[in-house]
Amino acid sequence: MASKLFTSRRRILQAAFLSALPTSGLLSQHAFAQTSGAKLILLGTQGGPNDNLERGGTASLMVVDDVPYLIDCGFGTKRALMNVGINFLTIPSIFLTHLHDDHVADLPGLLSHQWTQGRVDPTTVYGPYGTDTLVEAALQFSQANTEIRLIDEKRTVLPPDVFSGQIIPATDTVHKVYEDDRVVISTIENTHFPEWAKAEMPYRAISYRFDTADRSVVFSGDTTYSENLVTLAKGADVFVCETIQLEKTREWFDMASGGGEGDLYQDAREGIWNHIIETHANTEDAGRMAAEAEVEMLVLNHILPGSLLEIPDSAYLEGIRQHYQGEVIVGRDGMVI
Ligand SMILES: [Zn+2]
Ligand SMILES: [Zn+2]
Repeated sequence: MASKLFTSRRRILQAAFLSALPTSGLLSQHAFAQTSGAKLILLGTQGGPNDNLERGGTASLMVVDDVPYLIDCGFGTKRALMNVGINFLTIPSIFLTHLHDDHVADLPGLLSHQWTQGRVDPTTVYGPYGTDTLVEAALQFSQANTEIRLIDEKRTVLPPDVFSGQIIPATDTVHKVYEDDRVVISTIENTHFPEWAKAEMPYRAISYRFDTADRSVVFSGDTTYSENLVTLAKGADVFVCETIQLEKTREWFDMASGGGEGDLYQDAREGIWNHIIETHANTEDAGRMAAEAEVEMLVLNHILPGSLLEIPDSAYLEGIRQHYQGEVIVGRDGMVI
């Protein structure tokens, strides 16, 4: 296990190097220019809407032969892209796992800034039910900005001609949703939303698999243990999975919600705790899914307590090692894998 943790630290150093690269001017030069193959970049790794100075809202990036594909767009995504030297104007596709605000908070700003800074090629936002409405709302958010710039800058491109949302059906079997000459992207519905909640709403949560010429990478999105996700992740090189260290998260929750110094969640304290433990993957769930899917590497993401509480990486590994003995990386913002 020691050597595997060492590998993780080497990767962290690589990420630190990339963070130091210049991102000047219009960000026209990015860290992955003229590279081939597929890289995974963790942009925001904090679990839930709990962004802090060490970890941002959920977002990841696949860069395949120099083309970026964004997975989720939590708070701080644009800044995180700048930190790793990626030109946000070049992002043509965004894949949302579900529409909780910790996964979409930066979407209106990202699309608006793409238009303001002159993107003319299409940007498509893919995601489950509600994604098309979300994109329309994002364009409404920037309507005043658009109208002003159409007049005083004589802009010639209208946002609806650039940006669109495309709904991905949530299915119980692996479903191909996107393909180009670099990547095939598949999805399946996961178990983030319980059956009783789904009975009362049309919203769904999905996981993604990216298959490229040299790697396969799976993104759990938010979910608790999911047989569907195990099927999607079968034999993958990299499994990016959300995780909660329950004991430490409860410690933080009590402190933040009134048991200590904090005052979060006063409107529905127990409802929110039940959501945390019933609809997310704890460390044992993550390890069990990684083992059953026989993945080469498990990357922890959307981590709780993450940087809300100072705990060692080994606290996450305990639960995982009950099921999975392969390489594990505790994700951090800016990490390149
Ligand atoms: Zn989330
Ligand atoms: Zn969620």
